[in-house]
Amino acid sequence: MTRQAAAVPSETQTADAALRARAALVVPGGMWGHLNAARLPDGYPQFFASAEGCRIRDVDGREYIDFMCSWGPVLLGHRHPEVEAAAQAQAARGDCLNGPGEVMVDLAEDFVAMVPHADWAMFQKNGGDATTACVTIARAGTGRRKVLVARGSYHGALPWCSPSVAGVTSEDRAHLLHFHYNDVASLHAAVAAAGNDLAAILVTAFRHDMGRDLEWPTAEFAKAARAACDEAGAALIIDEVRAGLRLDIKGSWEALGVRPDLAAWSKAIANGHALAAVTGNDKFRDAAAKVFVTGSFWCGAVAMAAARATLRIARDTDVPGHIHAMGLRLREGLATLADRHGIAIRQSGPPQMPLMLFDDDPEVRKGRAFCSAALRHGAFFHPQHNMFLSSAHRAADIDEALDAAEHGFRAVLSASAART
Ligand SMILES: *Cc1c(COP(=O)(O)O)cnc(C)c1O
Repeated sequence: MTRQAAAVPSETQTADAALRARAALVVPGGMWGHLNAARLPDGYPQFFASAEGCRIRDVDGREYIDFMCSWGPVLLGHRHPEVEAAAQAQAARGDCLNGPGEVMVDLAEDFVAMVPHADWAMFQKNGGDATTACVTIARAGTGRRKVLVARGSYHGALPWCSPSVAGVTSEDRAHLLHFHYNDVASLHAAVAAAGNDLAAILVTAFRHDMGRDLEWPTAEFAKAARAACDEAGAALIIDEVRAGLRLDIKGSWEALGVRPDLAAWSKAIANGHALAAVTGNDKFRDAAAKVFVTGSFWCGAVAMAAARATLRIARDTDVPGHIHAMGLRLREGLATLADRHGIAIRQSGPPQMPLMLFDDDPEVRKGRAFCSAALRHGAFFHPQHNMFLSSAHRAADIDEALDAAEHGFRAVLSASAART
């Protein structure tokens, strides 16, 4: 295939296929990471053209009710008018300046006022910036090296935490020790193994590893992590990058009565604008002032203005409550449909970030068949990764998506019939 031939779309080719063919020539693998086409169910578009509220449109003009919300960042619906107005007002004055604008101090004050554990905040761009900064601050503050992470937990795509080993050396991860999420004995064993070199325990707000049932932390586990850090003088770090603002705007572990020393935030905090944050308490204030962290775009004022508007809406309206209700409606509807078809499914996680897995589906064939058929009928689900609700989802949208899901369940039945 010549470069030229692959890049020229035929008349019958979709716009998505044409873009994939062009991308294959100039982007390694056509696309990186979890968005590589090979990881998506059949028929899923790679390229999107626009979005509004809970609806997204691909480059071929097909519209879907969106249950991925850009994989987390969209909390209030795509292009929320108030957030976009705040962003545009800031953009009219300037975004990337020689230093931060007033908005940085305003936003840090907003975080400190909203999040009980936080005495201070600092800002980055991506979730991986924030989780890495938390680890660096914990090490600087304790003068120790070992960081405990749950096996299989995702904290970003940097060498120290990437789920892949390609291009990663064992030295990149030399001072990580592992425990099993929600397993107090394994946590204690890892704490013992770290000895007097324990800098931090890093834990996601809930267990949301890809492809397995989601798990809420037990109070016993959360309290054990807090107690182990207190005893050792180490930092308890909660990775709120995915769950932040969807469960409890004060922090996901508030209901468990456990507060972290440091927390990493990103995804939803600016409703789709690129921003991350680290919040911390006074124990780690000096360490946070000491470490050298920065990025070319970390002062960007537009995303900070968008975050202020997002936090204001999250404070003034019960976002977690609304998306909880919509997630429950979806969950109950899916359960009813699956039951009617005699299909065994498992639903897990907080309703705001739901996951549906099929029983006896080790290769996710049923999940993919379900998603592909539902997609053709206008609902964008995911077979293995937790999904996301937004405050733009209304009951009528959920009901419409359930009609699409009905087609998904029928596809699972006919696929099973074809194999037997
Ligand atoms: C997405 C995610 C990250 C990494 O965030 P990026 O913005 O992709 O760097 C870290 N932790 C969790 C729990 C995430 O879901």
